[in-house]
Amino acid sequence: MKFEQYNISTEIKDSLKEMGFKKPTDIQFKAIPSILNGDDVMAIAQTGTGKTAAFAIPILHRLQQQDRRHRKAPYEVKCLVMVPTRELAIQIAEVFQGIAQYTDLRILALVGGVDQGPQIKMLEKGVDVLIATPGRMFDQINQGHIDLSHTQTLVLDEADHMLDLGFIRDIRDVIKHIPREHQTLFFSATLNKDIKDLAYSVVNNPIRIQISPKDPVSKNVSHAVAYVEMDDKRFFLERLIKEFPESKILVFVRTKVRAERVMAAMTRIGIKSITMHGGKEQDDRLDVMAAFKSGDVKVLITTDVNARGIDIPNVDYVVNYDLPDVAENYVHRVGRTGRGVQKGQAVSFCSTEEKPMLETIQKFLGKNITEMTINKDDYRETISFSEDIPNDNWQLLLDQHNKEMEELEKKVKKRAAATAKKKAKKK
Ligand code: ADP
Ligand code: MG
Repeated sequence: MKFEQYNISTEIKDSLKEMGFKKPTDIQFKAIPSILNGDDVMAIAQTGTGKTAAFAIPILHRLQQQDRRHRKAPYEVKCLVMVPTRELAIQIAEVFQGIAQYTDLRILALVGGVDQGPQIKMLEKGVDVLIATPGRMFDQINQGHIDLSHTQTLVLDEADHMLDLGFIRDIRDVIKHIPREHQTLFFSATLNKDIKDLAYSVVNNPIRIQISPKDPVSKNVSHAVAYVEMDDKRFFLERLIKEFPESKILVFVRTKVRAERVMAAMTRIGIKSITMHGGKEQDDRLDVMAAFKSGDVKVLITTDVNARGIDIPNVDYVVNYDLPDVAENYVHRVGRTGRGVQKGQAVSFCSTEEKPMLETIQKFLGKNITEMTINKDDYRETISFSEDIPNDNWQLLLDQHNKEMEELEKKVKKRAAATAKKKAKKK
């Protein structure tokens, strides 16, 4: 079925055509009718499968139908979309604006860290769709700039994350402000059991839509793990970047400080990169995202603030320079590549001390991540290939690595021998 055949307004159909959306994706196909129907929906679908438009299209259509009859009161918000980060709020607002471009509907991203003036002016006239992070939204509710007493639809994107710890109280607070009769929509790529129970405590009998529940990693992403020691990671990153100089590479690290350090290491060897993390000013954050989006800078080093939702075109590689602290974030991070119909690759650098985390991630995925084997010579070559290390130093590192590999080999052999013995005994 094509969008043309849908029972949605011609204005929306025209904009979808312009955006190059011909056919709905699976999640769009399944979710749109229920949302048009006014049902509560809990939708789980892999990263990059078009969840944003899956809620934006039916929401905008419904609003457009009503818009002809109702005038908005000042500060009124008809639909509230809550998201975890500012960049995501801006991105989702852009999708809404794209789909609503031929309608009169008013859409606003409300984010912190920027001048409030223009945002308050927009709110004053009332908006149809407000996309907000909780922090700035509560500021504005408290200042009387947001009236949720006529809100019909509440959307939680990255719902499991929004419901997690910090935000659940905020969400309950929001629900207190909106009318009893309202529609609630949850969207995410992951949802664990505890959070699911929490989600069910917020909605009444939602329609549950789940696509590809078995493997949470997008089928468009081929992902592997390489065993690389902490101190050697930068050499492997250097090699990857130099081998694929035309590629757009998104590198995830554990902390802000590490992001800056990895960038400094790349700068030393003449590789241009930028960082993005919670420690940056909002203007900088937006500039960085724009530079990476446009491809002006091909390497972005970031923390988990960018793990969820961000839709950047043509990211060829995701590198987990450090493994994530939370297993779900593995799925979200590697899902920044392979979006829509594109294919993507991801590689994780796992050091000895990160092996327990790798186990946790594999347990979460329900399967092992393919191992990218690096033999001794390749490992040696990668380190010697670096322009950032004096020769005697790498020899030292190499000796240490070789020793560890030998020990590992011994262990494996020993285990194999023991298993063989056991088998022989059984017979
Ligand atoms: P998700 O939220 O599921 O991770 P997004 O909503 O960010 O995914 O969409 C991923 C990409 O797919 C976006 O670049 C979007 O423009 C594109 N996309 C979404 N729906 C369609 C469609 N029906 N046809 C073509 N491209 C689409
Ligand atoms: Mg999304």
